[in-house]
Amino acid sequence: MTHLHLTSPQADALRSGTPLLWLNPQYQTPAAAPARPDTAEIYAAEARLVRFAPVLQQLFPELDASNGLIESDLLPTPALHNAINPLGGQTLIKADHALPVAGSIKARGGIHEVLCFAEQLALEAGILNNIHDDYRQLLQPAAIALFNRYEIAVGSTGNLGLSIGIIGAALGFKASVHMSVDAKEWKKTRLRNRGVTVVEHNADYSAAVAAGRAQAAADPFSYFVDDENSPRLFMGYAVAALRLKQQLATQQILVDQQHPLFVYLPAGVGGAPGGITFGLKALFGDSVHCFFAEPVQAPCMLLGMAGSAGNEPVPVYDFGLQIDTDADGLAVGTAAKWVCDAVRDGLSGVFTATDSQLYQQLLQLKQLENLQVEPSAAIGCAGPGMLSSAEGQQYLQAHKLDQHMDQATHLIWTTGGSFVPDSEYKGYISKAIEKSNPKVS
Ligand SMILES: *Cc1c(COP(=O)(O)O)cnc(C)c1O
Repeated sequence: MTHLHLTSPQADALRSGTPLLWLNPQYQTPAAAPARPDTAEIYAAEARLVRFAPVLQQLFPELDASNGLIESDLLPTPALHNAINPLGGQTLIKADHALPVAGSIKARGGIHEVLCFAEQLALEAGILNNIHDDYRQLLQPAAIALFNRYEIAVGSTGNLGLSIGIIGAALGFKASVHMSVDAKEWKKTRLRNRGVTVVEHNADYSAAVAAGRAQAAADPFSYFVDDENSPRLFMGYAVAALRLKQQLATQQILVDQQHPLFVYLPAGVGGAPGGITFGLKALFGDSVHCFFAEPVQAPCMLLGMAGSAGNEPVPVYDFGLQIDTDADGLAVGTAAKWVCDAVRDGLSGVFTATDSQLYQQLLQLKQLENLQVEPSAAIGCAGPGMLSSAEGQQYLQAHKLDQHMDQATHLIWTTGGSFVPDSEYKGYISKAIEKSNPKVS
């Protein structure tokens, strides 16, 4: 049995589905993370996205304003701050729920990985002579014919499938998305309408990924985007840190030892929040404090991070949990091992929240800031409250942060929602109202 860095009250809270804040005992312990990725790869990913920008701009007119870059706004949210942040300082939202092209944070990693593969194929085939060529040649018939010989496959609860399917099909690839039964019907429909093949699996997320992986491995013209083990996804996500640094500078928000930055990131298998954490730690070091947020029913990254380097992450089933949550994208039973090792000494902690909390926060985001997100994307709102708990205070004192809280910035990373159909969103709102007034029938 793998040893876990968990106290027995923490293990009890996990088993009983009670929200908790777990502080990472291996934080700032470099020996705990022997095989960290190379930070140079973040810049390589950023450069690739710049090379492809003219292509993306032609494929997706909504990218005209940003010259082909896929980026979200950094929003000051003072009303939300007053409602959720007892710690002082200021609270902002990094609005990845509105990322163009894919409507979720998956637009960062998923699109980067497909571009890596397309670039590699085009260079090998001589359609691109080198990386300084005009990439708009990739929109010409020769490139489309090349891409059309290949399938891009992925296993997904929904959002990764949307991202891979949309960019894959746009470039001319055949795209197949393996989905678990719990995937939303509107996401399947949206993909099918774009010519993407949706393969449904009567199993959970990891099983859908495994099935897709096996099918693709048997076909040399199939490329599998492996959410549980993908440096290409990870580095696509990490680019967000470079973009955020620029946005903070533009808004004259300081980040240093006297002006700490706290970031609350929804976590599923770990690639997106892990990549962003890796990027942020590379840029801001000890001045940034990253916390992952997970549903009480699916704390897979908490269990993965509570292990040690090289350990197989412990599945949430071992704690009697069934991944019973409406939080798409976070409904994952086992963390990505590779990601756990990559951020083992960089992540400050993980907190969990109930679905009732998610719905309440979803409603607050709508009422206070007029932002429409999906339930998973609201989970970061619990962060400042968790950090003001006894455990949170312990973290602030241990890192001598308590005297700087008036000058701190708290960043809630909202990760999906802008593609949610209105009827579906209205359902979320009714559920939120129902859950806040349980006696009203
Ligand atoms: C996928 C996803 C996440 C988390 O990303 P992981 O790489 O799976 O950890 C968070 N929020 C939403 C809405 C997602 O779709």
